[in-house]
Amino acid sequence: MVVGDVTTSTDVLVIGAGPGGYVAAIRAAQLDLDVTLVEKGEYGGACLNRGCIPSKALLNGSELASEAGQAEELGIYADPTVALDEMMSWKDGIVDQLTSGIEQLCTAAGVNLMKGTAEFAAENKIRIVHQGEGQGSESLKFENCIIATGSRPIEIPEFDFDDERIVSSDGALNFETVPDELVIVGAGYIGMELATVYSRLGSDVSVIEMLEQVLPSYEGDIASVVRKRAERFGVDFHFGYTADRWAASDGKAVLTAVPADEAAHDSEIELTADRILVAVGRRPVTETLGIEAAGVETDAQGFIPTDSRCRTNKEHIFAVGDVAGEPMLAHKGSKEGEVAAEVIAGEPAAVDYRALPAAVFTDPEIGTVGLTEDEATNEGVTPVTGEFQFQASGRALTANRTEGFVRIVAAKETERVIGAQIVGPEASELIAEIAAMIEMGAKLQDIGSTVHTHPTLSEAVMEAAQNARGKAIHRQN
Ligand SMILES: Cc1cc2nc3c(=O)[nH]c(=O)nc-3n(C[C@H](O)[C@H](O)[C@H](O)COP(=O)(O)OP(=O)(O)OC[C@H]3O[C@@H](n4cnc5c(N)ncnc54)[C@H](O)[C@@H]3O)c2cc1C
Repeated sequence: MVVGDVTTSTDVLVIGAGPGGYVAAIRAAQLDLDVTLVEKGEYGGACLNRGCIPSKALLNGSELASEAGQAEELGIYADPTVALDEMMSWKDGIVDQLTSGIEQLCTAAGVNLMKGTAEFAAENKIRIVHQGEGQGSESLKFENCIIATGSRPIEIPEFDFDDERIVSSDGALNFETVPDELVIVGAGYIGMELATVYSRLGSDVSVIEMLEQVLPSYEGDIASVVRKRAERFGVDFHFGYTADRWAASDGKAVLTAVPADEAAHDSEIELTADRILVAVGRRPVTETLGIEAAGVETDAQGFIPTDSRCRTNKEHIFAVGDVAGEPMLAHKGSKEGEVAAEVIAGEPAAVDYRALPAAVFTDPEIGTVGLTEDEATNEGVTPVTGEFQFQASGRALTANRTEGFVRIVAAKETERVIGAQIVGPEASELIAEIAAMIEMGAKLQDIGSTVHTHPTLSEAVMEAAQNARGKAIHRQN
């Protein structure tokens, strides 16, 4: 049935139902605004369908399999068999449960849900194109708009995603069998998380990285803990190379990588793979949005610049989440979504990026928040740091996971906590305490004198704060 071109109107139009958009829509509805949320694909966006949730499900599944198979030190002898199709079905069940939950939460909050692809027709008007049954289009006028169209994987020349041999993270989260040989292009967090999954499940994993370390946006001593552990699982790294081309041979793909810097390496390398995962970054989804019709500016990479209240160059149009730029993280999008809705409702909200945590769910995990020591110095703040190694943590020893450390950064003069970097077991959870402390303006002593449960990994946070003051108990200061 063709719906035809009928124009209706809404106070707040949200485009995209990922963690940026659906949170914005729910908060705007809670603030008694009339809200319409348009989504062209699945509710939950990349995070629920192709990102955070499926990747963490597979990380957990693969961790169980690998730990069970490697616990002889603890007197456990097991040789687990992995049925990947069953693990994938379990993962898909979690995704279905969460995505249908989003639809219910939006409906319960009073959000008007629409399926279709949104495209600006003017500064205050959008055209929504419906596909399949009910195809056709309709127009919608809005007072305010929140763009939350997210991002998609970047392709590189000669490696078009074909879902056969060459896949993006979308494909790698849905393999039918564990590849015997997997080549991953890019050692950023997505490449490294999937290297963790498939090396634990038994793939021979090789990673090609143009730069000289894994996780290039993290400090070297943090990244090297992750690299060493990955190497123990058999991951081969080829630093200083870029993927140049590939060819099919005997049912496999043969990838040729060339030196990124000829002074460092003088010859090409060839790697054989069943699958090649290209994970070199993500680009914003702005080019299909007709954004020029609304007069919204984008930068050279297509991101939409915003201020701390999530406003674009147009007073009544906001942008949140991946489309508004780095860091491309679900909780950053959700926070921005809440703020945009509150600003539209006339509240004095703004995003405070100083207390924004980030986690990488490799083995071991990384958790960071705020400034590193170098960043503090560059900002003109004299830093003082404290560290505690998990090797000295009773709880880490009982978990048989002693690699890594907690580092806390404070401003020397005031002892106010301004950042932290953790690499080690449960780093993604441990970082939350420090993020809360930064948000509350805490000083080193506030963390150092808070009683932490014994024996827990969180004692390492307390000891690191005490170490920064020269007062750690379980290490030399
Ligand atoms: C493999 C992987 C693992 C990840 N792991 C983590 C993690 O552990 N933690 C973390 O914080 N982040 C993680 N991320 C990043 C996280 O998924 C994103 O930061 C987050 O999804 C961004 O949310 P968003 O709302 O901005 O956009 P998205 O989630 O991308 O949602 C955008 C939505 O907009 C819709 N849309 C686009 N254009 C239109 C249009 N014209 N009309 C209508 N609808 C449209 C899309 O269909 C989509 O549903 C991961 C990403 C990947 C790929």
